[in-house]
Amino acid sequence: MNSRRSGRRPAEYREEQTPTSGIYFKCRRPLYSGRSRFQRIDVFENDAFGRVLFLDGLVQTTERDEFFYHEMLVHPALLRHPRPRRVLIIGGGDGGALREVLRHPAVERATLVEIDGRVIDVCRTHFGWLEPSLRGGRAEVVVGDGNAFLAESGERFDVILVDSSDPVGPSTVLHERAFYARVKRALKPGGIAAAQAGALLYHLDSHRRKSAFLRRMFRHALFYTGPVPTYPGGTWCYVFCSDAVPPLGRLRRTPPGLRYYNPGIHRAAFALPNLLAEKLS
Ligand code: SAM
Repeated sequence: MNSRRSGRRPAEYREEQTPTSGIYFKCRRPLYSGRSRFQRIDVFENDAFGRVLFLDGLVQTTERDEFFYHEMLVHPALLRHPRPRRVLIIGGGDGGALREVLRHPAVERATLVEIDGRVIDVCRTHFGWLEPSLRGGRAEVVVGDGNAFLAESGERFDVILVDSSDPVGPSTVLHERAFYARVKRALKPGGIAAAQAGALLYHLDSHRRKSAFLRRMFRHALFYTGPVPTYPGGTWCYVFCSDAVPPLGRLRRTPPGLRYYNPGIHRAAFALPNLLAEKLS
């Protein structure tokens, strides 16, 4: 929800995180506002967080704190896989997850499947993450529904990462059991999937439901958590799924340049806060 000081440009952008609380960003400079076939897209500059991407009034990423989320979505799975040559990212049109995947020299090819071509174009212009990734020859971008891509493509992947938005609109399907069954089928033997799963504090019932079906589907299906300052509640949940590889064990060498993730953080992230452990037990 955006509040306007005059009729012309938003003075600030607000995300209502609960009906009576939320987060706001004062807008120093609006960069893009428009509506695609799928969602409303806003990019603007804020003094504290740099460039900010909102989709349908919800914070997706900010320059200042995006690394918390992207590093924790990508590196636990990539570093537990002994040889992650082929990687699929579903969603993630801002390019932050792709940038992290390509830090791994073992990755020969990374495919990003984003439903909204406008998100890709807008983020390519206003965030510096996609452009260098696309230049290196190891990445390809497909504009399409990630669920349909899995249903139709016969390809198999070493690692599949689900960088979806919250379960509303086109993302709803990416949180369902049928989608994860497709993810499982699209993994090579020894493969690992990781997905963002929502706010620790606000989505406990959804975590319980997701964990129940994932634990029936995969030999290892474990939640882990990490901070993301601008996301609702400040602590975010992810899920690690594999039939072959448990999340804790030998890690390959961490790529240089990371700002949050390290092997100690990896181990600590799988120690669940009591409120989540009780909900999932
Ligand atoms: N880090 C973010 C978060 O949790 O708020 C997610 C960011 S990323 C921009 C999410 C992307 O998933 C969006 O660009 C959206 O268009 C895309 N998306 C939603 N549904 C999709 C689908 N069915 N297939 C592929 N991409 C989808």
